[in-house]
Amino acid sequence: MLELDGVDSGYGETQVLHGMTLCAQPGRVLAILGRNGAGKTTTLKTVMGLLPLKKGTIRFAGAPLDRRPYHIARFGIGYVPETRDIFPSLSVRENLMLAARVARKGEWTLERVIELFPRLGERLENGGTQLSGGEQQMLAIARALLMNPRLLILDEPTEGLAPIIVKLIHDKLAELRAAGMSMILVEQNFGFATSLADDVAVVGRGRVVWSGSPAAIRADAELQHRWLGV
Ligand code: ATP
Repeated sequence: MLELDGVDSGYGETQVLHGMTLCAQPGRVLAILGRNGAGKTTTLKTVMGLLPLKKGTIRFAGAPLDRRPYHIARFGIGYVPETRDIFPSLSVRENLMLAARVARKGEWTLERVIELFPRLGERLENGGTQLSGGEQQMLAIARALLMNPRLLILDEPTEGLAPIIVKLIHDKLAELRAAGMSMILVEQNFGFATSLADDVAVVGRGRVVWSGSPAAIRADAELQHRWLGV
């Protein structure tokens, strides 16, 4: 579904990714794990066209991926950034409608995202700044779904959230997974990530240092200690 091959990228003169190679399969959840600063967010930003691809290739659904962010979204990659990027001066409804206006045609509608997150239905007329962290995360996910993505990419969806909200987000992502949504999940929360993932890639110093199954990494304390500091 999404393949990175030998990708180099970074910020200006600072190279962060060094030959990043990974593959997300259709209908599966790939968790990308790694310590702070390993290059996880940089990988996602490079995929989304927010950072330049200095070397290597990125292919999506069998073809080289366009580098323009708007086109990447229109081709079917939904992105939930770490910063959530809700428009604070707009209401929940307006935030959602903005996405729906430019969305690909598909099954996800305003009604369906509210069915998934009923809390958003109660907050439709509230402004972005009036939302709790959990509600903002729900809105960010709902907005990405409204684009009718073929692949949903989430950067640290549990960051800063209370345990009860983490559980709710977990259950919603599990629902999406059961419905066959392809996903890439970057997470610091090891238990959260490995319970949702079909495949795991561990990133260290800008490249994949290990890949395998959630069961294999759960059983490997040495690997967890070395690359995740767990
Ligand atoms: P984190 O959990 O901290 O987000 P990460 O694996 O996602 O970890 P990245 O955000 O990809 O890490 O950062 C990788 C490296 O790039 C780090 O050394 C970081 O300092 C550097 N970096 C990140 N953003 C910038 C930036 N805007 N300008 C320069 N360097 C940056």
